[in-house]
Amino acid sequence: MILNSHVLDGLTDEFKRYVLEFADYMDRTYGVDLLISSAYRSPEGNKRVGGVRGSAHTKGMAVDIAVSGGKERFLVVKGALEFGFKRIGVGHRHVHLDMDLSKPFPTIFPDVEKGT
Ligand SMILES: [Zn+2]
Repeated sequence: MILNSHVLDGLTDEFKRYVLEFADYMDRTYGVDLLISSAYRSPEGNKRVGGVRGSAHTKGMAVDIAVSGGKERFLVVKGALEFGFKRIGVGHRHVHLDMDLSKPFPTIFPDVEKGT
């Protein structure tokens, strides 16, 4: 389950469906609920938080999942790999997941700042 699903507004229909299915997978498999810390961003909003130019967030194809520590971070990354995400960013406080396959994939990249 997604604890704050209203934040999914602005994502593409396809990516939104994918994220909802992923949330269901995480619940069934690991008993983990997802808290989204960032989803769609306007180009201006993306710039404000220091996002990279052309970020998948501005295309409605990325979410950041808030994680509270190492175990939750591990489970979100494990689940994302199992579920089929091809682009994963691992940060201190969140895991970035996107399906912008116009960018290099598969990849796991450091995603230390909230804006990535
Ligand atoms: Zn992100």
